[in-house]
Amino acid sequence: MADAPRIAIAGAGIAGLTAALALARAGNPVSLIEQSAVLEEVGAGIQLTPNASRVLIGLGLRDALAPLVVTPAGMDVRAGGSGAVLASGPLGPEIEAAYGAPWWVVHRADLQAVLLQACRNEPAISLETGLRLVSATPLESGISLILERSLSGTGESPPSGSDAVSAQEKRLVSALVGADGLWSAARKALGDKNLPHNRSRTAWRATVPVDTAPPGIPRDRVGLWLGAGAHLVHYPVKAGRLINLVAILSDPSSGESWSGPGDKMVLVRRFRNWAEPARALIAAADSFLTWPLGDRDTWFGPGEGAVTLMGDAAHPMLPFLAQGGAMAIEDAAVLAREVQATPGDLAAAFRRYEAARRARVAAVQRGARVNGRIYHLDGPLGFARDTAIRLMGGKHLVSSYDWIYRHKA
Ligand SMILES: Cc1cc2nc3c(=O)[nH]c(=O)nc-3n(C[C@H](O)[C@H](O)[C@H](O)COP(=O)(O)OP(=O)(O)OC[C@H]3O[C@@H](n4cnc5c(N)ncnc54)[C@H](O)[C@@H]3O)c2cc1C
Repeated sequence: MADAPRIAIAGAGIAGLTAALALARAGNPVSLIEQSAVLEEVGAGIQLTPNASRVLIGLGLRDALAPLVVTPAGMDVRAGGSGAVLASGPLGPEIEAAYGAPWWVVHRADLQAVLLQACRNEPAISLETGLRLVSATPLESGISLILERSLSGTGESPPSGSDAVSAQEKRLVSALVGADGLWSAARKALGDKNLPHNRSRTAWRATVPVDTAPPGIPRDRVGLWLGAGAHLVHYPVKAGRLINLVAILSDPSSGESWSGPGDKMVLVRRFRNWAEPARALIAAADSFLTWPLGDRDTWFGPGEGAVTLMGDAAHPMLPFLAQGGAMAIEDAAVLAREVQATPGDLAAAFRRYEAARRARVAAVQRGARVNGRIYHLDGPLGFARDTAIRLMGGKHLVSSYDWIYRHKA
């Protein structure tokens, strides 16, 4: 390990933390650079399908996650208007038996806390918070980074006589992995000047204590409600103490705003014709945060040198297959495997990682876009969708995505 080159990772989200852990376990020292002064995940729940839980278990995190996750008993797909169950499928022990790893639902803060603690336990990982990647330039001698250190909220004082709340510094690193999310600065610096596509969808997220959740909402199952121009997903998190709720609306004005608090009355109006349990669940939430949804084509970087991208920085996707985080977790495993194979040639390792990931993440992105169109169909097309789901039946709810869940990154 002493001779392995240190790899800089920009961004300590699900992608960066998992990659740091996997790379450190594979013998590489890692510098993890995170812009936020304090690591705290917002946005409530995340589903971890077997292709993702398999990697986390492989990293030895099962015991730490077990008290925090819920293995839902099953999933019910419902028609938003009538509330009728269109199909139900099992997600409990059947999933682990079929795929060799469980389907978990978990609060993001819990997942992040487990990943963070595991990183902190690894002497090979150094984590610097309040440090933002501004630019990255590949040179003969390494990758030259410009970083901006936040002086506010870190206890550091700005230089005397200055109002500065940040200070820039330069750093030369052997290798850079951009794991800095949808609006990746690494991606821009490495050559993609395009912006994410606005997909005219807004996600509304909230949690509701189980004690106040309406009786028509199962406590131990994933619920997916489909309707005209909107859908609703709910599942338990925090070891079953909270119900996580995500409502996604078709919303032409979505791209005009950033994440922030949402006016609940907008949701109440949009769901006024939905079945009572769905309306009651929305009514039970105190407050909502909104996310305009976007994606970008898969791009791992310029394809030369010891630089690459991962997670949402490389292949952000719409959440209609619940796979963005899972793909980031898979990326981490493949990246570490390839680096371990040629630790002395990181550029070659990064090219093999990119080649191994490109087709898969692009296929999942496409699948998410297709589901995005199907989920929100209206009128006769919505009726056709509901009929097709009924005919397909619960058994195929999960098995039709075998190609996603069976994958062993
Ligand atoms: C409504 C919704 C529901 C979803 N549900 C699921 C689900 O059920 N299952 C699933 O697998 N996925 C789901 N996803 C997708 C998943 O949340 C993302 O794909 C995942 O969080 C991406 O992780 P990441 O680490 O790549 O990026 P991010 O989570 O965006 O993390 C990026 C990190 O980089 C930091 N950063 C940014 N810029 C810089 C910089 N310049 N310098 C240093 N640090 C920087 C950020 O502060 C952040 O910590 C969902 C997404 C949405 C919107």
